[in-house]
Amino acid sequence: MLILDGNKLSTIIRKEISDKVRTFCKTDIRPPHLAAVLIGENPASQAYVRNKIKACEEVGFASTLIKKPESTTEEEVIKIINKLNLDKEIDGFIVQLPLPRHIDEMKVNLAINPEKDVDGFHPNNFGRMALGIPAFHPATPSGIMMLLDRYKINTDGKNCVVLGRSNIVGTPISILMSKKTTPGNATVTIAHSRTSNLKEICANADIIIAALGIPNFVKSDMVKNNAVIIDVGINKIDDHDSSKKYRLVGDVDFENVKHKVSAITPVPGGVGPMTITALLDNTWKAYSKTIK
Ligand code: NDP
Repeated sequence: MLILDGNKLSTIIRKEISDKVRTFCKTDIRPPHLAAVLIGENPASQAYVRNKIKACEEVGFASTLIKKPESTTEEEVIKIINKLNLDKEIDGFIVQLPLPRHIDEMKVNLAINPEKDVDGFHPNNFGRMALGIPAFHPATPSGIMMLLDRYKINTDGKNCVVLGRSNIVGTPISILMSKKTTPGNATVTIAHSRTSNLKEICANADIIIAALGIPNFVKSDMVKNNAVIIDVGINKIDDHDSSKKYRLVGDVDFENVKHKVSAITPVPGGVGPMTITALLDNTWKAYSKTIK
């Protein structure tokens, strides 16, 4: 069984990015610059944004954090976005989700200049991705594709089951896995809360990509021998033995599934770090205009 180690692979890819920055950004050339907009005090969002900013520093990117209170209005957020859209020093930016309930995520999304949309959530980028033309791909699916690519996992003609159909993970990864690309060329089934015979569907899968947000949902009896498992889930569960009183687990029952499979991502340390690496890669592309 192969552990698809997102931490290890991220270190390699981030080193490649920082080498490019060092080579390209001679003394008088500014480095790539990512901005992050964080509205409210959601602890998970704060941690995600902190990690993204830290990753920027590690590869030599400049970064700006725009932090606003929960009470910020939709109009004010759009104003911030309009300013970032026009700022020539900013190559790309993200608006950390989820946003407070009184702010319409789609309106915010639509306000972002697609050329700076390094999260790849703007319909222009999403549509272009679906059509297979150059675009920023959403970071988590893009990170998964990098992982499959670098670990040389054969996806060609494989039966791939995606659990979850969110706009940020399930739907885009199902599109990318079905494209005429390598990795890709898979026969994709997209499953959700209305899917019947889920156990049977999963048990026939060569590749399972789990993005439901339900701790340990995928059990050993749902998994075929030698399947490849990509666990996107990040779930906090109580753990009284830990100093934090919680631990993170994925959507897959890792301990019981790992013996059966040919390759699996751990949680933490699998898809999570690859998501940030893909965001850095998108920011590099926005900066160097090498979007493919
Ligand atoms: P959403 O809550 O937006 O979507 C969950 C999906 O799972 C929905 O499509 C839902 O179906 C489906 N679902 C829920 N229950 C079941 C069920 N019993 N059987 C089958 N399908 C079900 O989640 P996200 O896509 O945003 O995130 C999924 C997980 O991935 C979360 O744990 C999140 O924290 C994690 N995540 C991790 C990232 C990373 O970098 N590693 C990045 C982003 C997310 P329906 O559409 O019918 O409601």
